[in-house]
Amino acid sequence: MGFPKEIYDRASAVLSERRQYAKEQTLVRRQQIYSLLPQIEQIDKQLSQIGMKTIQAVAGAPDELDKILERLKQQSLGLQKQREDLLTAAGLMEIYHDDNHACKKCKDTGYVGTKKCECFQKLLREAAFDSLGAVYPQNCRFSNFSLDYYSAQTAPNGINPREKMAQIKNFCIEYARNFSMGSHALGKHQPPSESLLFMGNTGLGKTHLSLAIAGEVINKGYGVVYGSAQNLLAKLEKEKFQFSYQQEEEQSYLSLVLDCDLLILDDLGTEFLSQFVTSTIYNIINTRLLEGKPTIISTNLSFQDISKRYTDRLASRLFGGYIQFEFVGRDIRIQSKIMG
Ligand SMILES: [Zn+2]
Repeated sequence: MGFPKEIYDRASAVLSERRQYAKEQTLVRRQQIYSLLPQIEQIDKQLSQIGMKTIQAVAGAPDELDKILERLKQQSLGLQKQREDLLTAAGLMEIYHDDNHACKKCKDTGYVGTKKCECFQKLLREAAFDSLGAVYPQNCRFSNFSLDYYSAQTAPNGINPREKMAQIKNFCIEYARNFSMGSHALGKHQPPSESLLFMGNTGLGKTHLSLAIAGEVINKGYGVVYGSAQNLLAKLEKEKFQFSYQQEEEQSYLSLVLDCDLLILDDLGTEFLSQFVTSTIYNIINTRLLEGKPTIISTNLSFQDISKRYTDRLASRLFGGYIQFEFVGRDIRIQSKIMG
């Protein structure tokens, strides 16, 4: 999965903060060790003087350079041995040599050789996830999706909101657990996860369940992008009219949205409508369906609303290709305020 420059920059900034923190921590620990064992400080000073002398000798290139270098090397080895002995006796060896990097594999550089380190890939995925949805409810998990807000009484239309929502919640839990991009492992073909359409009024838990799925799928190491339709389309529209030079590895937001493992498009129908928006939404839905990439879309709009607002073609792709869920009940956000 490639990422736009902005996302690279954000992830790189985190790595840079980690390196800075590691440096500071190392200095603090050093000072603590020096106050406990002043001899260590003396040895370190002498070692750095030897380092300076070595550089000067090489630069000056005297006749007996080899001999001088050998002598300095022996002095250095002797001091190092002395230091290790002191540290071992005090039980401080490990602390002294710990460079305090959050990731020992890449020392917080993000790269092991020329390959991106796992820690960097994780940071990139995290940055991509929240790059498009500046504001979203935190802490949306399955465990705190309460069914208590949904009425347990069967309505005249025969629907029992609590039962229905329990079914939807269970489906979502299974969906997240079995999330897959499709595979041919061990000769067995596993199809990619389906795309889902969450329908129903505002405040019935559509965003909560989408984010709960996102959280689990991210934990499995997949690249998830979440965005409200409003933010995401504004970002894509802005990008379209911006000419920017892109590095080889970098991608546009549009390709991120088209390529990510799971796209969550929240609140379809709240975005500002234009020709660009209609064709971009169709492009996203159609491309991802054709490539078998799962998408979760939530909307307050009905089938008729969608046909009317966008196009029949878009509505038929959406209703033909997505599994639909009708969320029921009364606005849980208002209820949870009243119920505290
Ligand atoms: Zn790393």
